[in-house]
Amino acid sequence: MAGTHILVINAGSSSIKTALFDGDLAEVLRIEATGIGGIGAVKTGAASEPADLPDNAAALAAIIDALSRQGIALTSLRAVAHRVVHGGTALTAPHRITPAIRQAIVDCIPLAPLHNPHHLAAIDAVSALAPDLPQCASFDTAFHATIPDLARRYALPDRPDLAGLQRYGFHGTSYAALVRNLPQQSGTLPKRLLAFHLGNGASACAILDGQSVATTMGYSPLSGLTMGTRVGEIDAGAVLRLVRQLGLDQTETLLNHHSGLLGLSGISSDMRTLENSDTPKARFAIDHFCYWAARQAGSLIAAMGGLDAVAFTGGIGENSALIRTAVLDKLSWMGKFPSYTVAAQEEIQIAGEANALLTT
Ligand code: ADP
Repeated sequence: MAGTHILVINAGSSSIKTALFDGDLAEVLRIEATGIGGIGAVKTGAASEPADLPDNAAALAAIIDALSRQGIALTSLRAVAHRVVHGGTALTAPHRITPAIRQAIVDCIPLAPLHNPHHLAAIDAVSALAPDLPQCASFDTAFHATIPDLARRYALPDRPDLAGLQRYGFHGTSYAALVRNLPQQSGTLPKRLLAFHLGNGASACAILDGQSVATTMGYSPLSGLTMGTRVGEIDAGAVLRLVRQLGLDQTETLLNHHSGLLGLSGISSDMRTLENSDTPKARFAIDHFCYWAARQAGSLIAAMGGLDAVAFTGGIGENSALIRTAVLDKLSWMGKFPSYTVAAQEEIQIAGEANALLTT
C-alpha cells in the first residue's frame, strides 16, 4: 500500500534539512543534519545530538535513521520532494524525477556548481535505498520563468557559446508560497507587489498580477542585495580585477563566503548578532543592507510601473522589525502602501507541489 507521508529534503553543502508532512499536508516533524564535513549534529524536532557527519551521504543516512526511529521507514513514504536550486531554462515547473529530469538537473550543474550536486547526491541516495519511491523536485528558479526578455537578458552578444548567460532569479519557492499565502492577510493579492525574501541569502522580487517580472538575483544567487556572506551587486570590472589579483578560487570564496554583512561588519553574517552589537562597523553593515534593499527596490518598482504593497519573508524579514522599518522608511517617497510580514513556507509549498504532481 502506498504511504501517506511526504518528506521534503533541502540538501545543501553543510546541512541537509528535511520536513515531514502527513497525508493532509500538515507538518509533523523536522529533522536536520548540520555541520557536514566533521562532527555535526542531527536535530529531530527539538532534540539535538552530536553526530559524525563526514559527508552528505552520512548526513542523509543519519536523517533516514532518525526518521525510522520515529517509526517512519523511507520505503513507507508516499514520496520524497527535493528543493533544487537551479532548473535552468528547461525546468520551469515542479517535476516528478525521471531519468530525463535527473539528467536535466545534471545539465544545470554548470549553472549552480555549489548547489545542484548536493541535490543530486540526495536524489541518488534515496533512489539507491528506495528505488520504487516516487521523487519530485521543485526549482528555485521556476517562479521567475515569467520574467520578460528585457529584464532577463544581459547586454551580451547573441552567440551560442554564451547561451544560458542570463538572469534566472532564485528564492522562487518562497515567492510562490508568499503569493499563495498573502491573500489570507491582504484579501485579494495586491496587483503590484514588492516582495523581500531576507534571510542569509536575500533577494527582492517585483510580482505583477502574481507573476515575477523582475528580481534582484541574476545568473547566480550572488548578485542583488547585500547578504549574510555574499557580496550582492558588484561591478563586473571589480570582479575581473579580483580574479587577476587573487585568482579564481579565492575570488569565488571572497565573494560568496567572506563578503556581505560578515565582510562589512568584520563580526558576523548573522543579523541578530549585528543588531545586538554597538560597533560602528556593525551599524554600517546594517545600514548598507537596508540602503541597498531600498535602492534596488526602486528599480523593481519601476519594472512594475508602481507599487501597491510590500511583503517581507525569510528569517530577517519575518523577525526583524528594525530592518523592515528601515527599508520601509526609505520607500516612503512612494506614498502610503500596506506592508505585510509572511512566514516563509518553502517546505510546505514543495510538499504541496509534489502532492499535486502525484495526484494528477
Ligand atoms: P536561510 O536563508 O539560511 O534560510 P533564515 O531565513 O533562517 O536563513 O534567516 C537567517 C537570518 O535571519 C540571520 O541573519 C538571523 O540573524 C536573522 N534573524 C532571525 N531572527 C531574527 C531576529 N529576531 N532579529 C533579527 N534577525 C533575525
